[in-house]
Amino acid sequence: MKPRYLVDAMLGNVARKLRMLGYDTEYSAGGASVEAAASSGRILVTKNSTLLRRATRLRAATVTGDTEYAIMRRLLRGDTPTVSGERARCTMCNGATEEVPTCEAAGRAPPGIIHTRFWECVSCGHLYWEGTHLDRVREAVRGWT
Ligand SMILES: [Zn+2]
Repeated sequence: MKPRYLVDAMLGNVARKLRMLGYDTEYSAGGASVEAAASSGRILVTKNSTLLRRATRLRAATVTGDTEYAIMRRLLRGDTPTVSGERARCTMCNGATEEVPTCEAAGRAPPGIIHTRFWECVSCGHLYWEGTHLDRVREAVRGWT
């Protein structure tokens, strides 16, 4: 089973990237709790040393690092995830996405976004398409792994 994450405040970019890679990732803008991570079986991602100490005492799984780059390298630990619109979760709400027919989605996409596949978040309805953001993540994954 793929790891699931609980990402602490201040690491919103890490949360968005994990979602783009298809990992089920909760983001706690108000600050994550060790208990929430432990009870939901999520790996806590934080830079907060107090939380890290608590997590060690409670034997909760954590990932930390000084920079986003260091954290992403540790999270992926040599895995090279496939980056695709199909696998990605909604970067806004962590919802699953499903493909929508091009004819239905094209009218909702910015002008110029054509000849591509579209996905929609089943929770919040946000529309995604195969585009430069995924190319940027593909590029980044090569640097992390
Ligand atoms: Zn969503």
